[in-house]
Amino acid sequence: MIVIMRSNATADHIEAVLERLQEYELKGHLIHGEERTIVGVVGAAIPPTLQEELEVFDGVQETLRITRPYKLTGREFHPHDTIVDVCGIKVGGNACVVIAGPCAVESEAQIIETARAVREYGATMLRGGAFKPRSSPYTFRGLGELGLQLLAQARAETGLPIVTEVITPTDVELVARYADVLQIGARNMQNYQLLEEVGRTGKPVLLKRGLSATFEEWLLSAEYVVAQGNPNVILCERGIRTFETATRNTLDLNAVALAKRRSHLPVIVDPSHGTGKWYLVQPLALAALAAGADGIIIEVHPDPDRARSDGNQSLTPENFARMMPPLRAIAAAMGRSLVA
Ligand code: PEP
Ligand code: MN
Repeated sequence: MIVIMRSNATADHIEAVLERLQEYELKGHLIHGEERTIVGVVGAAIPPTLQEELEVFDGVQETLRITRPYKLTGREFHPHDTIVDVCGIKVGGNACVVIAGPCAVESEAQIIETARAVREYGATMLRGGAFKPRSSPYTFRGLGELGLQLLAQARAETGLPIVTEVITPTDVELVARYADVLQIGARNMQNYQLLEEVGRTGKPVLLKRGLSATFEEWLLSAEYVVAQGNPNVILCERGIRTFETATRNTLDLNAVALAKRRSHLPVIVDPSHGTGKWYLVQPLALAALAAGADGIIIEVHPDPDRARSDGNQSLTPENFARMMPPLRAIAAAMGRSLVA
């Protein structure tokens, strides 16, 4: 960060800035120009609030951040792609992953049938919520531990690793006993205790972007997980709230291409929540890979009309199967493949 002093700043004004830096164990390097002095701030940990603090100091004209605040998840200090290993499947490598399954685990028959179908059509992991964060408390909130047991059964039958959401810090230990990937939902992206708790497990974490989270807030949330010594974070863009109401959310593919540029973490896209409509899932899934995503996560239900959550955006197994050949073609056009 640099602090640009006003041309009429006094020695005392500069001293006050340096003193504040010292309080944070940071150093200030002075550059005396013809017109004004610039203070270069150096140190391992520049508090995110420092910029705002210094901006109101007497004699300060402007502050500019020159390194990004997400040190561990940014590419600046870590130029190479991180590859997250999920039971031998590489997320973030040359091959793209396809995670598929129902929004929620509803019954043994439903999850086993879905798992078998998506596996047959080429999915690489199975998704399904056992703990559902629902906007209304009067809707289906998941089967809880029974849901986790059914997911484990589906994994045993199909070999597909399981991705499932954990919604509260006290459930992390339980969910981590079953899950291969711990999903942090959009509504919990800024639940910092939860982020630290999943960080401590060391397990792969799929971190969804919050409904109204900026790009930077999303990466800073990933920072919480990585700061616990867990580098296995998969970023997931799932659509954000905008003025547009024609679709459930606005899938921000800008953020996908930007995340690939600014961060070394793998990035996947959820076009199911991103659009809210099953017939928009395929086009946006294709667009996601074209934008550089390392994979997609798709809701698939054997009978979407009777799904207990998110039926409108769920593909039938047949529609899922139809999406796979064009998805392979886009991956190939990008010089990539799908995980076999
Ligand atoms: C889900 O994956 O079913 C889900 C609840 O997603 P999100 O957190 O993105 O809304
Ligand atoms: Mn859902």
